[in-house]
Amino acid sequence: MAEANNTPYPYEAPASQGLFDRAEAVTPGGVNSPVRAFRAVGGTPRFIVSGNGPYLTDADGREYVDLVCSWGPMILGHSHPEVIAAVQEAVSRGTSFGTPGAGEVELAEEIVRRIDPVEQVRLVSSGTEATMSAIRLARGFTGRAKVIKFAGCYHGHVDALLAAAGSGVATLGLPDTPGVTGAQAGDTIVLPYNDIEAVRAAFAAHPGEIACVITEASPGNMGVVPPKAGFNQGLKDVCAENGALYVSDEVMTGFRTSKAGWFGVDGVVPDLLTFGKVMGGGFPAAAFGGRADVMAHLAPAGPVYQAGTLSGNPVATAAGVAQLRLLDDAAYDKVNATSEQLRGLVSEALTKEGVAHRVQNATNMFTVFFTENEVTNYEDAKGQDAFRFGPFFHSMLEQGVYLPPSAFESWFVSTAHDERAIERIAAALPAAARAAAEATA
Ligand SMILES: *Cc1c(COP(=O)(O)O)cnc(C)c1O
Repeated sequence: MAEANNTPYPYEAPASQGLFDRAEAVTPGGVNSPVRAFRAVGGTPRFIVSGNGPYLTDADGREYVDLVCSWGPMILGHSHPEVIAAVQEAVSRGTSFGTPGAGEVELAEEIVRRIDPVEQVRLVSSGTEATMSAIRLARGFTGRAKVIKFAGCYHGHVDALLAAAGSGVATLGLPDTPGVTGAQAGDTIVLPYNDIEAVRAAFAAHPGEIACVITEASPGNMGVVPPKAGFNQGLKDVCAENGALYVSDEVMTGFRTSKAGWFGVDGVVPDLLTFGKVMGGGFPAAAFGGRADVMAHLAPAGPVYQAGTLSGNPVATAAGVAQLRLLDDAAYDKVNATSEQLRGLVSEALTKEGVAHRVQNATNMFTVFFTENEVTNYEDAKGQDAFRFGPFFHSMLEQGVYLPPSAFESWFVSTAHDERAIERIAAALPAAARAAAEATA
């Protein structure tokens, strides 16, 4: 996957290409987040000018059914009228005050109300900040330095957590990132996912040194690779036995996989949790929280420093509160049902063309892996026939369906994906499955 696929595709996007040319002149690689650049699939990234429900419209006026949903956040679809109204109301009162505000309290209360293990929560502006701060807090609380993470899990671009990371690092096949020093990465222990014995061995090898284990609650950044039964509980138990904290990264799964995120699915109680994506309603809002006695170590209540000029921004919190309040049981039932229907359609199309594949899901999050083997960790994920993904992706795009431009990402649906949107996807799948079948390494 390291090599860009530069196959020319027979359809064009001149307005997007013009914008991309300008972008490349002023921004490295033409994008502000690497996976957006289409490097793994080739072709011109689409510049989106508007979104409505399940649809995106690009600069050339083409409409796509969106199966990325801004990488998860847009679980109500684009431009949901009630979210937009809440944002407009907030904006009309001003955009930032640098003081406490009611919106922050409302969003924090909404999070605490939904997720039992979150007794206190601190708002930040990105998932990266949330995990970075949670790690600092775990180290400050335990007085220990080492952190265990799993290969293929992505926790944002925190220096200490970029080793063997998923998401864009996986998509681009990057080695460990230059710019992260040995000192920054030296306290990070990277282990294979779903291997509890490896975790026990690491604790045995470093007694009294490990501050925390951080894991995606159910990984979505090497593609969707759910924890094996008992794995998260095992992590929790090993941490408890060794005086370390269990940090569950729910930036992707939080408020997405259920009303209470992945905690609502497996019920394992973390010491700290991190959130982002869905909770911001499409704005930069994220959070970390958990045990009150641990959170009490944060400044100004305690000595561990953490801050942010725009943390708890009033427009972002208004969007987040509005979105979370709309996410009731019926909303999750709808998203889960749509995801299930779609998983069936994709599998059926690929089966018809004899393409080896495996669809893995964590409630409504799912990935289509081009392998028939179960994918339980990063090595398994990398073992798929990723060369089939580019042609599959471009066939879908050409037919008006926007997939994540990487074989190592989750697909996302929303409550706005209705029968018409599903029919469009269904109509596109046979040709895309054929393109995947015909692909050569
Ligand atoms: C997206 C993501 C992050 C990083 O969040 P940003 O807002 O992009 O910084 C961290 N952890 C997980 C599990 C994520 O999916």
